[in-house]
Amino acid sequence: MAKSRFEYVRDFELPDPLLPSAYIVVRIDGRGFHKFSDTHTFEKPNDVRALNLMDRAAKSVMDEYEDVVLAFGESDEYSFLIRRQSQLYNRRRSKINSSIVSLFTSSYVYHWPTYLPNTPLQYPPSFDSRVILYPSAKEVRDYFSWRQADTHINNLQNTCFWCLVKSGLSTKEANKTLQGTDSKAKNEMLFSRFAINYNHIPPQFRKGSTLVRSPPPDLDENTSDVKPVLVPGDRKGKRRPYEGTTGEVIVVWEDIIGDRFWEDRPWLLP
Ligand code: ATP
Ligand code: ATP
Ligand code: MG
Ligand code: MG
Ligand code: MG
Ligand code: MG
Repeated sequence: MAKSRFEYVRDFELPDPLLPSAYIVVRIDGRGFHKFSDTHTFEKPNDVRALNLMDRAAKSVMDEYEDVVLAFGESDEYSFLIRRQSQLYNRRRSKINSSIVSLFTSSYVYHWPTYLPNTPLQYPPSFDSRVILYPSAKEVRDYFSWRQADTHINNLQNTCFWCLVKSGLSTKEANKTLQGTDSKAKNEMLFSRFAINYNHIPPQFRKGSTLVRSPPPDLDENTSDVKPVLVPGDRKGKRRPYEGTTGEVIVVWEDIIGDRFWEDRPWLLP
């Protein structure tokens, strides 16, 4: 086909390849979800329907992209780990970044009526997205530890905050009460004032959601004492055109800061 005289503008699209062999993390985060969760009357501090919807949208991403080997979610954010040798879209940064956040967002909207059947969607939500490269397994482990530590810090804070507000304090008074308190003081406040043992709060809220594929068939499932919970979904057993581990995507709510999780799943960080 003959080229038009306008074709030269294409040369302005610069290549943006990601460093070979580096681990790729894509983190998406809801835009203005403070307001979005208010508008849609999310249960505070944790609306389990909204969390399950986030998990469902993340599962769509893992179903579509087999090179995504792990995902971790809390609140309005999700992080996706892509295996280091992935050749997805020839490792083009913006193609990977935009395709993942776009699929996540459309799946979130698509599945909304199933997870929040009595709450009409008032406006189209959006998510931002970034790509981060990590040179070794250590940084990847530390990255996910950072996100899970954040889950804990935020959840403890929010649990205290909403207990105080629901007990009659204004948001200003609740913030003032919590100012300068460490985690021990917050645990004690929950226990003595509200008869809540923080460790008895559902692990989904304390630990966030980790999505992994069930072990490949040649790996011994008995090495793990994790009781997998299936994320409801479709596309069972359908192979994707990308190389990587196969199997059902499951969600677990457990510690990923310690060694156990990773030792049980050596295929995640080869
Ligand atoms: P930004 O656009 O900068 O990300 P934001 O308003 O989305 O701003 P975040 O720091 O991302 O701010 O925080 C997301 C907020 O969304 C939380 O603080 C919380 O209020 C709310 N939220 C998200 N998910 C839930 C949920 N499942 N249940 C209750 N509230 C939620
Ligand atoms: P890629 O994922 O690489 O973008 P693609 O299948 O989306 O692959 P494109 O080059 O983007 O390929 O072309 C989009 C194709 O979608 C068109 O060639 C056409 O077949 C179809 N298409 C898009 N919009 C319409 C439309 N409004 N009516 C009919 N066909 C359409
Ligand atoms: Mg943000
Ligand atoms: Mg946000
Ligand atoms: Mg957030
Ligand atoms: Mg296209």
